Amino acid sequence: MIQKTALITGITGQDGAYLAQILLEKDYNVIGLTRGYQTDNLRGLSYLGIKEKIKLVACDLLDISQIIKILQQVEPSEVYNLAAQSSVSLSFQQPIGTFQFNTISVFNLLEAIKLVDKAIRFYQASSSEMYGRVNNLPITEMSILHPLSPYAISKVAAHFTCIHYRESYGLHISCGVLFNHESYLRQNTFFVKKIIQDSIKIHRNQLDVLKVGNIDIKRDFGYAPKYVEAMYLMLQQRDPSDYLICSGQTISLREIIYYIFDKLDIPHDLCQIDNSLYRPAEILDMFGDNTKAKSTLGWKYDLNIYQTLDLLLSEELKNQ
Ligand code: NAP
Repeated sequence: MIQKTALITGITGQDGAYLAQILLEKDYNVIGLTRGYQTDNLRGLSYLGIKEKIKLVACDLLDISQIIKILQQVEPSEVYNLAAQSSVSLSFQQPIGTFQFNTISVFNLLEAIKLVDKAIRFYQASSSEMYGRVNNLPITEMSILHPLSPYAISKVAAHFTCIHYRESYGLHISCGVLFNHESYLRQNTFFVKKIIQDSIKIHRNQLDVLKVGNIDIKRDFGYAPKYVEAMYLMLQQRDPSDYLICSGQTISLREIIYYIFDKLDIPHDLCQIDNSLYRPAEILDMFGDNTKAKSTLGWKYDLNIYQTLDLLLSEELKNQ
């Protein structure tokens, strides 16, 4: 059997590492594109014990000539585009840089695929943040987009770039609209990871209080290693399409904090509101409907949010 080659952008991120692990298990030759690598951002690949099994290639995704050359050399059958400035908070501070990278990189990748080999299948990491101000819950693939941050705006533009290349040039492009998903490999600045890390510090008397912004917002979130399985499944379908990947459950940030605090015997009044941590615009509640992903892709997901929190807390405690 001929070994398939998959190319992953954003290989140094949370999803890149877990996706690479799945593809290696399926005997793919995995090439990871990165803007540069050091021990620090290879932490995820090392943690999963797969760093040596992946070929890392430096590539500036804002330079189409570099992408064309790599596609010609590597001849991938699948490209998973996970690279992005992925922080909503940071996008308020760096709106133009976020928009520029998250959109131009997608145009460059798709234009390069169109020029080099239209048979290459493409996965785009779209985001539930695109829905922003939602009128009806649960969100479905048909819900109206109303982004509320520069990050979300960039993801909407990238999403429609993908639809445009699919409809106009017949490329096999699928967008996974992923809701928040967490793991031990999540960047430290993201909410659930930060809550868990700070709570452990409070528990160990290394920190006095947990400072938070608006914790009455509600989110649908799940476990990253399971969510990336859906990315692989999308590119195995005969026809490309877009899918919501979510747990279908919602929980307030306050409930998450109190659940973790209770697990670690921390009094609730050690959680303190800091108004400076509020965002200029905030999504109040969102949860999705994963029926299409489950029925069409055969994606399996049955963890509830508390089971996910238990997994995250125990892995964090084990590694600290
Ligand atoms: P992540 O951990 O933040 O990883 C982002 C990746 O993108 C890293 O490999 C990073 O490389 C790369 N990157 C960032 N800015 C770049 C730039 N200017 N040039 C080149 N590479 C750049 O994100 P993730 O959680 O794995 O998410 C993967 C994708 O899914 C992202 O597109 C994200 O927006 C999207 N998404 C994530 C979630 C979620 O809950 N995790 C939900 C919906 C959508 P460095 O190591 O060099 O920084």
